[in-house]
Amino acid sequence: MESQHLQSHVLKQAFAATRGALVIADCNAKDMPIIYCNQAFIELTGYSEDEIVGRNCRFLQGEETDQTSIDKIREAINKAEDIRITLRNYKKDGTPFWNDLIMSPIKDTRGKLTHFIGMQLDITETIEYQESLKASKEELENINAELEQFTYAASHDLQEPLRMVASFLQLIQKRYDDQLDAEGKEFINYALEGSERMQRMIADLLQLSRVRTKAQPFSEINLTEMIEQVLLNLRVAINETKAKITYDKKMPTVVADATQLSLLLQNLISNAIKYRDFEQQPQINVQVTEDEFSWSIDVSDNGIGIDPNYHERIFEVFQRLHTREEYPGNGVGLAICKKIAERHGGTLSVTSSINDGSTFYFRLPKPQEESL
Ligand code: ADP
Repeated sequence: MESQHLQSHVLKQAFAATRGALVIADCNAKDMPIIYCNQAFIELTGYSEDEIVGRNCRFLQGEETDQTSIDKIREAINKAEDIRITLRNYKKDGTPFWNDLIMSPIKDTRGKLTHFIGMQLDITETIEYQESLKASKEELENINAELEQFTYAASHDLQEPLRMVASFLQLIQKRYDDQLDAEGKEFINYALEGSERMQRMIADLLQLSRVRTKAQPFSEINLTEMIEQVLLNLRVAINETKAKITYDKKMPTVVADATQLSLLLQNLISNAIKYRDFEQQPQINVQVTEDEFSWSIDVSDNGIGIDPNYHERIFEVFQRLHTREEYPGNGVGLAICKKIAERHGGTLSVTSSINDGSTFYFRLPKPQEESL
């Protein structure tokens, strides 16, 4: 008896002390009136105990309370079941709040429903934070899509007039060659070189803008076969530079957009060849490691390396660390690779230091079971 008394005292104190707002409603009385509320409930709602006890919980509802949530609560009460639901409720002063409500049936010794206990938590801050995050995400996605559209339109529409400039320059070169002096010929050459360079830059920009718009669905890819195909595409550069390229002949099957993965590998391997150290034979290794959640496809070389101060900059559009005379290129390749990695939900990173080779890591997430 003594211990039972102690237990009920502790229970009562615990109900009063908890920061979760509690109410108990009587299911046997007409309209399920509240028969108990604790201090946290009084503080949450702003009503006094006298204003709460004896009333049905619906006094917390208002204009924005969702009717389907109310219907679900009613159904749970009828079936004497637990329910957890987030509900728009109102305080006494009219302030709305998001109520994370958990209701559970209380039954007598014969299993007959007698009461419901409801625990409520004000989760307004969490919900508002989630909503603002969602809004920022949507805004960012819109800005990104607009930028992509702009890049696409600008580069696409620039192609035509540029083609015209180049072809008329070629025409002048052909038709008036004998009328031009050496300086005139040189100027035309410069103008042609410039327009060709611009054509390549525009083509690269177009490719960059297409990473998302022209994306293909993911499929299973035999990596070994894909690398062999990429090496075949690069055979001229490989032969010219006598590059030694090693890779595991039994690489795992990965899941990705085949065209994009192939482009990424080709860019990384061709960079590894291009930025070689002229003092030694280029040695390039492609390897794959994996864990439960992702594959890591790594391309390492023994080339000129990259100063750690520039490890972020090299992934930006048109950012290069060398002149075109030293190494040809537009500075878009790695930006495309990074965008491809991101479109796959993965990352592209680098470890490198000057004269010490570079390793690029493409972390590619594995698909979750249900999305396969
Ligand atoms: P591009 O090769 O056309 O300049 P990228 O976007 O592919 O454009 O590369 C950007 C810059 O990153 C390059 O100009 C080069 O300085 C550096 N870089 C890329 N790959 C390597 C590499 N494997 N070794 C050393 N530097 C590299």
